[in-house]
Amino acid sequence: MRDQRSQDKPADCLSGSHRAADFHAMDWFGNPVLRDLLTVLNADGACTRIVGGAVRNALLGRPVNDVDLATTLLPEQTKAAAAAAGFKTVDTGLSHGTITAIRQVDGAFQAVEVTTLRHDVETFGRHAKVAFTDDWSADAARRDFTMNAIYVDQQGELFDPVGGVCDLETRTVRFVGDPDDRIEEDFLRILRFFRFSAQYGNGILEPAGLAACVRKRAGLASLSAERIRKELFSLLVAPFACDVLRAMESYGLLSDILGTVVSVDVLCRLAMIEEHQGYDVDQVRRLGALVPLTSLDQRGLKKRLRLSNSQSEALAAAAKTAGILRPPAGIADVTAALYSHGRRPVLDGVLIDWSKSDVRENDDVWIDLCARISNQPVPEFPLGGRDLVDRGVPEGPQVGRALRRLEAYWLQRDCIPGKVELLQQL
Ligand code: ATP
Ligand code: MG
Repeated sequence: MRDQRSQDKPADCLSGSHRAADFHAMDWFGNPVLRDLLTVLNADGACTRIVGGAVRNALLGRPVNDVDLATTLLPEQTKAAAAAAGFKTVDTGLSHGTITAIRQVDGAFQAVEVTTLRHDVETFGRHAKVAFTDDWSADAARRDFTMNAIYVDQQGELFDPVGGVCDLETRTVRFVGDPDDRIEEDFLRILRFFRFSAQYGNGILEPAGLAACVRKRAGLASLSAERIRKELFSLLVAPFACDVLRAMESYGLLSDILGTVVSVDVLCRLAMIEEHQGYDVDQVRRLGALVPLTSLDQRGLKKRLRLSNSQSEALAAAAKTAGILRPPAGIADVTAALYSHGRRPVLDGVLIDWSKSDVRENDDVWIDLCARISNQPVPEFPLGGRDLVDRGVPEGPQVGRALRRLEAYWLQRDCIPGKVELLQQL
């Protein structure tokens, strides 16, 4: 293994920013639930440290959302210690040594995952045969990337057995150990390599890791749709999505995963437009920019990525609205589109159209169209079935037919006629 350090020696390659990282000044580190849990899990000679995303994000100055702990306690000991301190415990993955400790604070639940130090004896995809250990280096060695194997103890001191801090400083996503071996243990690590590079890298992929991902790409076929979707969706909206997706596609990896042709250029243009205009970044919209949106492709993607109903509906809606509005569309066109499809799908469709055109992200005409889609009120048809029945239309199918006719009349007149005028048309 590269750059193996003795288990308790603080990292010696900290630059100014990381040496100055004062965990005690960070809100999440001072969270009373975490403090209490660390206190009980560090009593009587046990050693428990924070690891993974929390440490990585804290060192990068990014928000810390969830905290994972690694402990020398065996799972049953962890459960007993946490329960004695008033935590509820859930057996999240007991065979892998993971429990979740939960406490209710002000009506809200706070949960921390605690995993016993382990090394993976045999790995088959997500199912590993594990052995518990008290060796921190062994625990680091079973983790995927060096930047995910940095530990911080209760006192705020760093432990960095595989050189994660140096790699974090250079934004290098590096496999712990031999990349080919690590990928063979779990092919999801191919996607995690690209996803983490897009989230935490700098647009340059670590060459040994990249080469191994390309060599082992056939293993992607063995992954479940859910695992692929989760990684891919995080990757699509990551800061370096464009560079990383380009690199993936230069080896044909993206088309392989998605089962269709892809256009990374369109996605990159969409990313530039979103940034220039300050739009929220959306996973499904980005997917819609990456692939053709024929119904065949939509069906294929729904199955391949096991999209949720709301995700496939959003994709279908973006497909439907593609091509319906082009600059310079008038106010009435925008109004009709907003009424028929809703604001979000119209904006998605127009942004994707814009990205597919050769027009730059600072083009005033497209900017104006998108601003009108965002700001124009979505019109409401002023009549309901009740209004017609009150006016003597017999209840039943005739009401629906009359409403549709009046709606068409209203749409032809740019949604301007009010209730009175419409009822006069009856
Ligand atoms: P985030 O939660 O922000 O996606 P994270 O690093 O916390 O990032 P998790 O998926 O929550 O990621 O996993 C927690 C830690 O478990 C990781 O930091 C890593 O050390 C280890 N890990 C997770 N998945 C794998 C995997 N497939 N192979 C090896 N180690 C893994
Ligand atoms: Mg996490």
